[in-house]
Amino acid sequence: MRLTVDIDPESGFCYGVIRAISRAEDYLASHQHLRSLGAIVHNSLELDRLRARGLEIIGLEDMERLPAGEVVLIRAHGEPPQTYQTARRLGLELIDCTCPAVLQLQGKVRETFARMEAIGGQVIIFGKRGHAEVNGLVGQTGGQAKVVGGVEDIEGIDFDRPIALFSQTTKDPEEYRLLAEQIRSRARSSVDVYDTICRRVSQRYNSLKEFAVSHSVVLFVSGRDSSNGKVLYDLCHQANPRCHLVEQISDIVPQWFREGDTVGICGATSTPKWQLEEAAARTASMQTIC
Ligand code: SF4
Repeated sequence: MRLTVDIDPESGFCYGVIRAISRAEDYLASHQHLRSLGAIVHNSLELDRLRARGLEIIGLEDMERLPAGEVVLIRAHGEPPQTYQTARRLGLELIDCTCPAVLQLQGKVRETFARMEAIGGQVIIFGKRGHAEVNGLVGQTGGQAKVVGGVEDIEGIDFDRPIALFSQTTKDPEEYRLLAEQIRSRARSSVDVYDTICRRVSQRYNSLKEFAVSHSVVLFVSGRDSSNGKVLYDLCHQANPRCHLVEQISDIVPQWFREGDTVGICGATSTPKWQLEEAAARTASMQTIC
């Protein structure tokens, strides 16, 4: 079987994830162990690689048992203010890798909430309930912001009060636009919509769609827990029904391919380049299997 295999040049880690991983690796170059509050990246193979170097993933509840002086890394998604208070109370040292774009968004949410509170308004966040970045944003409002996962959730919004709408940085821009349109059409007071989807994510939408339609088969390499991965995989799948989600390289099977296929390999902002290269090598090896 003859196949042509291409790797999407735009795929791979985003700036925020690269920065968090390189800070963890820098620390581990001179220390044996580092704890990360939550998975530093939603990719099990990359996590295994970092675990082998001494990274341990802990939960918020684990912070309580750490002795003063221990070092904890905060990942690119960011954390609510309570996490910083807990670390201060316990005397823990933080390596804060909150992505600068997320940090800026947290500040904007905090500032807008104060303004909204003064006029009886509300802050709405379009995002995945329970996602670390969303928790960090809700924390800026003392837990008062309402999280909306999609248009099906908007019934709970009080349309008589002013609304400030924000989005989690990795959401689908088109979905956000439609949600904002729905909210505007129901609102009986002011609606301010903030463009808070990460540029890296929004730019990738169009380029990824083009990449998916220009290949006969698409392999989307991503961890199943990645929020951004799920959104981008759905996008690729809509653009090209012969799109397959690959979590482990061994997921790739010869049955996916036909003679002469052009195979495009791409991934989420949490997919490392090395994994895309491994997927390309395995796909290329299928040419000799059949
Ligand atoms: S997707 Fe964008 S905002 Fe989120 S961590 Fe990456 S660079 Fe930062």
